[in-house]
Amino acid sequence: MNTGSNGSWPSPTPTSFRSPPPDLSNPYIPPINRLPICVFARFFAHSACSLEANNALNREFVPLRLTHVCAPWRDFAVNMPWLWKRFALRACVGKCGQAQLAALCMERARGGVSAIYKDLVLEEYIGMQYWVNDFTGLPSDTTVCHCVFDFLVRNLEYIKELDLAIGQQALQRIPALRTNVHAPSHLEVLRLAFLCDITSDESVAPLYQFAPLRKLGWIPQRTLNNVPRMLAAPFSAPWGKLVVAELRGTPITRDAFMNIMYVSDSLQSLCVHIIGGALDTEHRPRAHRIIDYIMRTLHLEGFGSGPLDDVLAAMTLPNLRCFSLRATSAPFVAPGTLVAFLRRVKGGLETFRLSPCSESDLMACIALPQMSKVIDLSAMGCSKITERLIHVLQPGKTDSPPLLPELKILSLATCNIQLDGVVAQMLKARQRHGYALQDATIHFGDETKHTEDIKTIDEYRIKDMDMLLAMRMNQEVIVSVPGLS
Ligand SMILES: [Zn+2]
Repeated sequence: MNTGSNGSWPSPTPTSFRSPPPDLSNPYIPPINRLPICVFARFFAHSACSLEANNALNREFVPLRLTHVCAPWRDFAVNMPWLWKRFALRACVGKCGQAQLAALCMERARGGVSAIYKDLVLEEYIGMQYWVNDFTGLPSDTTVCHCVFDFLVRNLEYIKELDLAIGQQALQRIPALRTNVHAPSHLEVLRLAFLCDITSDESVAPLYQFAPLRKLGWIPQRTLNNVPRMLAAPFSAPWGKLVVAELRGTPITRDAFMNIMYVSDSLQSLCVHIIGGALDTEHRPRAHRIIDYIMRTLHLEGFGSGPLDDVLAAMTLPNLRCFSLRATSAPFVAPGTLVAFLRRVKGGLETFRLSPCSESDLMACIALPQMSKVIDLSAMGCSKITERLIHVLQPGKTDSPPLLPELKILSLATCNIQLDGVVAQMLKARQRHGYALQDATIHFGDETKHTEDIKTIDEYRIKDMDMLLAMRMNQEVIVSVPGLS
């Protein structure tokens, strides 16, 4: 492992406990040292993984502080690999100690670490100089040293998960740092936030080309002073192995999107931003043959792409569970295209987000049997939602269940509902009949005319954003400690 300029470790790494078990009959043993090991381990784990925990590799890094308390605690902490697996690094500005600490963590974690690295350029871009100086405490002419970034790229064999927010200088260093792309790498998760334009993925490719990559994130990092305008897509990524890919804000053509669908054998979740006109005639006959049983989550963004009818018509995704279609203009010309696409989903969706669309398109979609398991419906860009939609969601009007019986989260915008109380009635009726919502976000054109509705909606708003996020992700809110169940 590369340990930095002098090649030595900051401290020896014990491989086993050196301290004997405490003598519980000794009245001078402090109560905390009488705790069972499993309880003690849980305390350590919570102190390192709580939201307040400082993951930055500096003097405040929680695992390091634990080792400074006493010899038994030190022994315990250094022999708890999990404790050392997550840390965050900043661009070095001259003291060059972070790489050594990172090397120590990698050794104590016994590999498989999860590292976050942010270029200093992030703050430089954020805004006015005085704010930068206030935030970083650094003079404006500070020179950035790349020792930390270089250390990470040279030690990919010890890193399982890597988050990088990088600018032009760091990008340009990658090919020279990783001349042998076949060098050992255990990188499974790579999230890249770019602070600069990139015209091709050539400079980044050595990071992932032959890595066992499963998840790839690829986004522009917008800051107050800078928005990357040109972000080439990672076409040389190992698409055949990827399970999750998020290319948010990275425009790709329809043909490139269809090619990704062809070559990806394991892709379960994909977020893409499609641009450009209709599919090439050359691709169209092949496109009709796409039947993907693996894909479960698909977020299609079509900004400036025109309608996506051809793309939707080309795909059959029988096991899709989460589908979102967002565009600047109507995402399809023929309403039947989207309905036909949804009909080909066999198991039923759990999340459905559509924007923009008309009320009749939305109603045609939610009336499908494939929507009977939808938990989260969002139609924030749909115009002129009226009482018609609210009525079909209300139980008790007929003997049959309402549409979307499993619905828990409802988000609607630009509602053109005339009468106050219609939405309130629907929410209360769903609760009475056992179809209660857990969160509702409904925007009216004129909120002053909907006081009763808004009062009732407020009762159905989840105030805890973490809870709402977990629900949207269809996850339970559980803080778990890996390896300590
Ligand atoms: Zn340095």
